[in-house]
Amino acid sequence: MNRSNIRVLFSAEQIAERETSLVQEIAATKPERLLVIAVLKGSFVFAADLIRAMDAAGMAPEVEFMSLSSYLEGTVSSGSVRIVHDIESPVADRDVLLVDDILESGRTLTFAKDLLMARGARSVKTCVLLEKPGKRAVHLNPDYVGFTCPDVFVVGYGMDVAHAWRQLPFVGVIGD
Ligand code: 5GP
Ligand code: MG
Ligand code: MG
Repeated sequence: MNRSNIRVLFSAEQIAERETSLVQEIAATKPERLLVIAVLKGSFVFAADLIRAMDAAGMAPEVEFMSLSSYLEGTVSSGSVRIVHDIESPVADRDVLLVDDILESGRTLTFAKDLLMARGARSVKTCVLLEKPGKRAVHLNPDYVGFTCPDVFVVGYGMDVAHAWRQLPFVGVIGD
């Protein structure tokens, strides 16, 4: 696989501009003791840029990381999710923003949201860079969406295929 076979779907400039407006929306809700939780690994670049856009908007979030994994039955997701790495901070009475790369079935984010609400968070909102419509297995309406994504497999800006291409500064599609 060659980098020149990867077509830009959302450029670094488009993403940065969208992040600025997402952060304006988030800031307008005046979150209290905001805790940003990045769902690893795919969201790490998005979360890193979001928190710096938050700083530019005068916000001072804390940041945590959570790694979740879907149980597989063969190659098909069984629908249940387990915690691979948990956050360290308590979430009681805090406004939490869950950040993920792509919302597809909604199982991962629903699991994380339910877990954090059960731990006593004041609120849990969800922010995804990309949303693939028509793929939802469970009902979840994300609070903040960067872009609607066509039904193609994307890489870059933190997202991988077989551990490759996370380093690309844009969201791209391989070889079409
Ligand atoms: P779900 O919403 O189905 O629980 O989880 C969606 C997850 O599937 C994303 O966070 C991402 O890890 C993975 N995923 C879905 N579509 C794509 C894609 O087009 N490219 C990559 N790299 N990962 C994807
Ligand atoms: Mg993910
Ligand atoms: Mg992956």
